[in-house]
Amino acid sequence: MNISRRFILTGTAALAATAGLPLAARRGWALTSMTMGDVRIDSLSDGHLELPAGFFLERLPEGDRGAILDMFDLPTEGVVVSPCNLTLLRTGDRVVLFDAGSGPDFVPTAGRLPEALAALGIAPGDVTDVLFTHAHPDHLWGLLDEFDEPLFPNAALHMGAAEFAYWSDPRTAETIGEEWLSFAVGAMRRLTAVGDRIRQIGDGDEVLPGIRAVSTPGHTPGHMSYAVGTPGQGVFVTGDFVTSAAAIFRPELGTSTDSDPEQATATRRTLLPRLADEGWTILGYHLPEGGIGRIARDGAAFRFEEMDA
Ligand SMILES: [Zn+2]
Repeated sequence: MNISRRFILTGTAALAATAGLPLAARRGWALTSMTMGDVRIDSLSDGHLELPAGFFLERLPEGDRGAILDMFDLPTEGVVVSPCNLTLLRTGDRVVLFDAGSGPDFVPTAGRLPEALAALGIAPGDVTDVLFTHAHPDHLWGLLDEFDEPLFPNAALHMGAAEFAYWSDPRTAETIGEEWLSFAVGAMRRLTAVGDRIRQIGDGDEVLPGIRAVSTPGHTPGHMSYAVGTPGQGVFVTGDFVTSAAAIFRPELGTSTDSDPEQATATRRTLLPRLADEGWTILGYHLPEGGIGRIARDGAAFRFEEMDA
């Protein structure tokens, strides 16, 4: 597998630099490319989220809180910058996106996908498939443009059946809790807009040739990851079953965006050893430096090892 990385400064990034934003926010969008035979995979930045530090702190045990904050350079207050890396796969006539990004309506720091695609010479109409990991705003809302029209008019849309069922159930808005209500309302609106175009998939399905769905529940009820190719040579598109390097180091440390923390922990405990031992390259939606790396064993723990270009 060949890997190359470059940073492209856009107008937005130049603005962020003059506004004194953190380095991760200033980079513009990174383009990291991998080629495996006739399959090319790019990590495209949709921008970043600025999450309250409390999202990460909530799950840290008192005793080793300081050490973990130091290790991952996490602040105790203010915001944590969380990158958003979309996976783009091209092979033959197919142009496949994993998730659709935040779109124009979520946060001002994300929603750059159309810009990133344009820089590669790809029009939204060229996208043949969108495979969703889950229906949170930073993954789903980019499905509609600023006029509420589908951004990818020609794409087949794929989503886990359990995920689709959860977010298209009117009871979800009543049970999800005040803090996440906008997630439920936003997902419902978008799924309603394109609902009959979504193909519902299950664990183990070969969604497209060489791309298999892997059920990774806990972050959301029907979260899916995707295995592209085979162990050793393949790429595992994680979605949000891990949302930070800290959750790789200590699988019980999710963020407060995990809807079922115990289930999310169990998923990480099962999958991290497998990804490490089978030698998968991973592409993590919210992991640093384009999200491309490997899960390495570190004694009894695991760590995210960025891949050198
Ligand atoms: Zn996310």
